Amino acid sequence: MLDDKKSNLKWQTISLASTALRRQVSAHYRSFRIRLTPTPTQDKVNCSFYFKIGACRHGERCSRKHVKPNFSQTILIANIYQNPAHEPNCTLAESQLQEHFELFYEDMYVEMCKYGEVEELNVCDNVGDHLLGNVYVMFKFEEDAGKAVEALNDRFFAGRPVWAELSPVTDFGEACCRQYENSECNRGGLCNFMHLKTVSRSLRRELAEAQRASLKMKKHEGGDRDRDRGGRDRDDDRDPDRDRDRRRGSGRDDRDDRRRR
Ligand SMILES: [Zn+2]
Ligand SMILES: [Zn+2]
Repeated sequence: MLDDKKSNLKWQTISLASTALRRQVSAHYRSFRIRLTPTPTQDKVNCSFYFKIGACRHGERCSRKHVKPNFSQTILIANIYQNPAHEPNCTLAESQLQEHFELFYEDMYVEMCKYGEVEELNVCDNVGDHLLGNVYVMFKFEEDAGKAVEALNDRFFAGRPVWAELSPVTDFGEACCRQYENSECNRGGLCNFMHLKTVSRSLRRELAEAQRASLKMKKHEGGDRDRDRGGRDRDDDRDPDRDRDRRRGSGRDDRDDRRRR
């Protein structure tokens, strides 16, 4: 079995009876640089594809559970990017397709910033129905993600109703296809892990800077909003004192002594 490289490239559960066999297997896996992590097929109850990627090709008919989160920083806007490359008579050149995509990306990013601070925005390049044109947005605050989902489901984009939901995705590193990142994925667009579309570094930087500037402006305009969110400003004022006390060990007495002097 171990000689057949191909059969071992698939994830599988192997019962490891002896230490010798275990060593042999782990050396074998190391040689292919495949990590011995839980496989997508090990959890018999919950669908690990849905858990990691927020979408599973079986959809509602999946035999495993899709546990939808009640709170999450991440939202999924399903099938929203319509790549002109998929139209049968598309004559656009590669550079025009990229330009089309970057306009979409910018539009999406600016719109999402209206709901809250955006940490990450990713667009899938996969062509399977459950991932086609999917946009994932990770907000800094869960409450902003919640607000965004509520508002977006009342909206349309490019003439079609928007479908948004809270997504269980917490780590895009886990959701993305590693082979694709090394240009080695032989499943192409039908892969069930995320193949993300790339955005030029300059646009990414520009958008991040614009967001930072607008957040700064908002902070100046309404410092009240931060305080409403849990008295963060006031806590910040108090914390340094507390930390200093802790560092001194016997803390409070020291300070009281100093005050008396
Ligand atoms: Zn599933
Ligand atoms: Zn892939």
